[in-house]
Amino acid sequence: MIKKRYILNFPPESGDKAFTYHLVKDYDIRINILKAEVFPGKRGSLLLELQGKRNNIENGVKYIQSHKITCEPLDKRIHFKEENCIDCGNCTAVCFAGALTMNRESWKLEFDKNKCVVCELCIPACPLNLFEIDFR
Ligand code: SF4
Ligand code: SF4
Repeated sequence: MIKKRYILNFPPESGDKAFTYHLVKDYDIRINILKAEVFPGKRGSLLLELQGKRNNIENGVKYIQSHKITCEPLDKRIHFKEENCIDCGNCTAVCFAGALTMNRESWKLEFDKNKCVVCELCIPACPLNLFEIDFR
């Protein structure tokens, strides 16, 4: 069993597809919807956490993509210029999901992208503008 987060972007014509139902029923995948921006008749975006057998998740993602829906792992949509980080810790104060933490021994920033919920609060919190998140 694996657990992995994906960002989905779908066009207006795919907005009424019951793809989450098929992921559960046909691919035995547990779904946790962590963020949704869905506007009737317009583009929509979702952050989903998928849990299941690796093979089922890979096939479920292919099923989604076959319906003209972009589906990419969350970590591919997060751009963090780690090499420029000064470990000031500002971003950890706003990351309620616990994705950004300070290592208490080295006092270096640690970023676990698989805990990110795309709240985007770290973007304005970083004085060096080191975060970009491509959700929409
Ligand atoms: S967007 Fe930034 S602040 Fe929000 S959960 Fe992800 S890493 Fe943390
Ligand atoms: S706020 Fe920016 S510079 Fe400071 S620890 Fe976070 S990423 Fe690094």
